[in-house]
Amino acid sequence: MERTLVLLKPDCIQRRLAGRVLSRFEDKGFNIVALKMMRISPALAQQHYAEHVAKPWYPTLEKFITGGPTVAGIVEGLEAIRVVREMLGATSGLIAAAGTIRGDFSSSRQMNLVHASDGPEAAQREIALYFKSEEIIAYEPTITPWLRAGDES
Ligand code: ADP
Ligand code: MG
Repeated sequence: MERTLVLLKPDCIQRRLAGRVLSRFEDKGFNIVALKMMRISPALAQQHYAEHVAKPWYPTLEKFITGGPTVAGIVEGLEAIRVVREMLGATSGLIAAAGTIRGDFSSSRQMNLVHASDGPEAAQREIALYFKSEEIIAYEPTITPWLRAGDES
């Protein structure tokens, strides 16, 4: 079982797409184990996007990501880190395949609606950046026996 950090970025909230994006993860059978609305500060943006701070487009990315409310969540499931990234699609909404979240809803290289951790190390680092351990609510959905076989783990 894996956990991955998901951010519904300010464009997703402003465009009233938060419910539809969260529904995709729920429809897939994944489990949402943490969720909160917040405003990302410039300091947090710089930590989160440390690998991009020196890029020429970072200033506009920081303005975008700090420019309105964000919903942060943790999605849990089998191979969730890879599968959620695939559900998002390519970084640019102009390249992301139809059927992916970005492919269906974004027509921008930057305003691509949603973030998800790109690997196990990033997931661990990013979950710790956004959530205290007491904000993560582990639970076993009653529908689990109808989502996968008992010996799948
Ligand atoms: P991803 O979110 O798919 O992991 P990156 O880590 O490459 O993508 O970039 C982080 C975020 O920075 C992207 O989600 C997007 O919002 C923004 N971004 C990426 N590339 C560009 C670009 N060329 N111009 C403007 N913004 C960009
Ligand atoms: Mg990335």
